[in-house]
Amino acid sequence: MSLNYKTPDYFRDFECLGSDCPDTCCQHWEVKLDRSHYHLLQEKMLQDETEKGLFENYIDVNEQPVTGDHDYAFIRMNNEGSCPMLSKNKLCSLHDRYGIEPLGDVCAFYPRVISRCGADMELSGALSCPQVARLCLLSKRPFKLSRFNVSQLPRSKDYPIQRELSQNPFDYYADNFRLVRQKLLELAVYEDFSLNVRLYALAELGQRISLYYHRDCKAVDSKRLGKDLQQVMDKGNLNNIQNYLAQDDSVNLFAMLVVRAVLEIKITQFPDEKLSQIAKKTFASSGMDSESSISDLPIEDVQKAYDKLRQRVSPAMNKKIDRYFTRYLCNCLFREWYFTMPDTFTYMQMLFIRMAMLRFLFYSEPRLLPLLKQYEQADRDERSQLQTELDSLAINLVYNFARAVDQNMSFLQLVYTAVSEQDMFNFDYSLAFVKF
Ligand code: SF4
Repeated sequence: MSLNYKTPDYFRDFECLGSDCPDTCCQHWEVKLDRSHYHLLQEKMLQDETEKGLFENYIDVNEQPVTGDHDYAFIRMNNEGSCPMLSKNKLCSLHDRYGIEPLGDVCAFYPRVISRCGADMELSGALSCPQVARLCLLSKRPFKLSRFNVSQLPRSKDYPIQRELSQNPFDYYADNFRLVRQKLLELAVYEDFSLNVRLYALAELGQRISLYYHRDCKAVDSKRLGKDLQQVMDKGNLNNIQNYLAQDDSVNLFAMLVVRAVLEIKITQFPDEKLSQIAKKTFASSGMDSESSISDLPIEDVQKAYDKLRQRVSPAMNKKIDRYFTRYLCNCLFREWYFTMPDTFTYMQMLFIRMAMLRFLFYSEPRLLPLLKQYEQADRDERSQLQTELDSLAINLVYNFARAVDQNMSFLQLVYTAVSEQDMFNFDYSLAFVKF
């Protein structure tokens, strides 16, 4: 079967920034090392005294591997929190000395994520890399697939496939994955309607099809699925949602409770992470002093302060900001396959919670309102400079959020369990997150 190599057009020409990277990925996380490259590196590094010391002191076999091969071993960071093989000019000394061949899959391929979807080999980029966040958030079109050449990959033969779509004909959940994901993406990129309208339509669709289309579902009525997927894009339907949201002035503190609770866990458990510092600064600007904890802040006050901030952003600036979140949403819909979750609604609700946290932190950023005000009063020349500042705020938040939340599976599992225990994978709760 000949393969089609597809990637979002903004990612096709991705190149690592190397020494120019503002926040190298070779730090602050354990780097997994697959079995075959562990042995290749061992062979090379044991021949040199200095590197032998590095290998023996910093590369450990994983006592509790999950897959056995992919995470056979890992590279431990040094006391400064950096990879001991990272040179002074922030480049990989192993890559410098031995080239790409012996490097572990994570080192060689990050932030690339390769997935096989039938005859399509899909290449996407993790937003935890500031360069990927930049390319994605600033891309002209929210999402468009284009072809890439496998020779563009760091290793064009021995490349790691992180997930593969089941070819089991009785796996009806996988069988309809491409069709359903395609529709989710079509809706997500439909920027004629505001982000809130699109998110609400995604929640509605997820809730409706999850009744009969989910993990371990029996054969799916393709006519019914087709009709539901068609109906969601219907302009009349989207206009109805728009009118409904415009008339809805309900204030549901529940979403703010969840956002605050999740950020508080982050701040208490991972105080040194950049996202925790961003969140701490945000809550401090909502009146939290260094002595009190976040949950001491009356939730009504946090909500009121946030609503006031949102109301001070003009519709034009909201539309501009929605572009960043639309591109974040599309990157996640394409790269994070929904069928890792029991159904599409659960998947969407988790994504809504993450987007609500992102929106809270972005709109609460103390520099945002003055910047937007300046932008609206500025002439053309000034605007491009202000636009660059706005872009940097979004890129900085998104890649730090992706490092601390999106890419932190154990933390996401913790959030998932908490939301399940509170029975919040329920459509009644979606509105509060959607219009956050
Ligand atoms: S974070 Fe991205 S740009 Fe920076 S060093 Fe890593 S791969 Fe390169």
